[in-house]
Amino acid sequence: MPEQPILANVTCSATRHPGVGRFGRQGANLELKGVSRQRPDSVLPMSGSQTQATDGGSFTISADYRGCPSCGADNVVRCSRCHQLACWDSSQPVFHCPSCGKSGPVTGVITRFSTLGGG
Ligand SMILES: [Zn+2]
Ligand SMILES: [Zn+2]
Repeated sequence: MPEQPILANVTCSATRHPGVGRFGRQGANLELKGVSRQRPDSVLPMSGSQTQATDGGSFTISADYRGCPSCGADNVVRCSRCHQLACWDSSQPVFHCPSCGKSGPVTGVITRFSTLGGG
């Protein structure tokens, strides 16, 4: 039986368009497999659980990841203030959070984030 994908909100930092990221466990790491644009009329459950990489793993980007569906950014970061995930173009040294407006340099790695649904 295939493992249930892990879903989390990923907002586009360029267009602020909401998206849904799909993650899978890859050993100790949580791997981002893809992001789909959220349909404008769809409603996602807001309350989720925290998911966490284990054994020193972290959040990684799958080799199959095609980039942000809204702007094509090749990476995703989590805001240190509001803890929302958002796309980030790794050629940009500074991240601007689309959810709370914070901007700053990207540091560290993501090891946990909030998932969607009851998971
Ligand atoms: Zn984007
Ligand atoms: Zn933020």
